[in-house]
Amino acid sequence: MTDEFHEPADSLGCSGCGGCCDPVMMPQSRAQILAAVKSGEVKSRRWNREMQFILRNWTWTGERTHWWDAKGREGHSWHVQCAKYDRHLRRCTAYDSRPAACRGFPWYGQDPLLSVDAMAMNTPQCSYFLDVPAHLRPAGARPLIPIEVVSRRGGP
Ligand code: SF4
Ligand code: SF4
Repeated sequence: MTDEFHEPADSLGCSGCGGCCDPVMMPQSRAQILAAVKSGEVKSRRWNREMQFILRNWTWTGERTHWWDAKGREGHSWHVQCAKYDRHLRRCTAYDSRPAACRGFPWYGQDPLLSVDAMAMNTPQCSYFLDVPAHLRPAGARPLIPIEVVSRRGGP
């Protein structure tokens, strides 16, 4: 994560599992994004560029996951495939130009405790769950430990 989004000071960061790109889980449909661009609602050039990136590279598969978080709130996420995702290497091939929706994942500069529930539905293996004390993680969370951290600690 970079730019306007800041990780919690003691975050171990991303393990590079690629799970959040395969598929991307989006609260908005393609039609909603198109409508926002056409209506002029997206005013800044930068956001417009990011929306264009999304419209060019992302394909909504039509699948949707419904979820309920630990507080009983309901939501859904559309499944999206990204043309910039290398499925063999499980890597982003447009890392420096990826949109804010990717750069900010998963906390988007917020307190992790505010969004931890919904995240567990989509990427239970995400290492960012380590930013949250174990007793406050949702039941499905199974965070991976980033390899740099394993090496630093002399692990396998
Ligand atoms: S742009 Fe990169 S980080 Fe964003 S969904 Fe595509 S592959 Fe993933
Ligand atoms: S799911 Fe989490 S750990 Fe895996 S690539 Fe995405 S941000 Fe990194």
